[in-house]
Amino acid sequence: MRTPFIVGNWKMNKTAAEAIEFVHAVADELPAATKVESAVAVSPLYVQAMAEAAKGSPLEIMGENIFYEQAGAYTGEVSPQVLKEVGANYVLLGHSERRMYFHESDEIINRKVFAALKAGLKPIICCDETMGRQAAGDKIHWVVSQILTDLRGLTDEQMKLISIAYEPSWAIGTGKSATAEQAEEGCYLIRQTVADIYNDEIANGIRVLYGGSVNPSNIADLMDRHDIDGVLVGNASLDPDSFLKLVNYK
Ligand code: PEP
Repeated sequence: MRTPFIVGNWKMNKTAAEAIEFVHAVADELPAATKVESAVAVSPLYVQAMAEAAKGSPLEIMGENIFYEQAGAYTGEVSPQVLKEVGANYVLLGHSERRMYFHESDEIINRKVFAALKAGLKPIICCDETMGRQAAGDKIHWVVSQILTDLRGLTDEQMKLISIAYEPSWAIGTGKSATAEQAEEGCYLIRQTVADIYNDEIANGIRVLYGGSVNPSNIADLMDRHDIDGVLVGNASLDPDSFLKLVNYK
């Protein structure tokens, strides 16, 4: 059985004080991690303070990005080993905003996946799909090609630490979620691609998330689908009450 995984992505929002207030507001109301796992991806500036505030609660505080080396002359970058040291266990990789604004290629994302695993961080790899690609009927080729490169070289054991998010960029921050059918189709495609590269056991074990304008009203329908094991949520994860409704979607 795959444990449902509800992940917030705060992007570059909230002050450090607001971040701590959020932890205090939700910490005692979350389901046990064995039932539903909950996490928020936040600025590295306050991962440590949030992780300390969240101690004893099921809330995972995670990174939104890392660099592909552990240390060195890389001004302004986030070290995977330090992110782990200050309390993160998970990290988002290859979010569509990183691909779009920071020109992250799948080759770079693949290097980041290995750097995360080396540091003891479990990656959630985001797989993008643009409106243009969808309109051109190029969805299958585009999704599969990202997965092939992002996962290149990973062993069966390493695959057990990976989650993948299907995040059509036309649904991110637009208020227009993919329908549950479209979301299921994307997540199914990702799972089948993993089965083709690895095997059914790995594919059935991996958690595949949907992201794009998920909110407390549409989450239950999405989570009802066979191949959607969780959601990655931007806007609707910022407010504590809304986040609690998401993690308590059942
Ligand atoms: C995201 O940031 O990954 C996202 C899905 O944002 P939103 O929920 O706001 O569409």
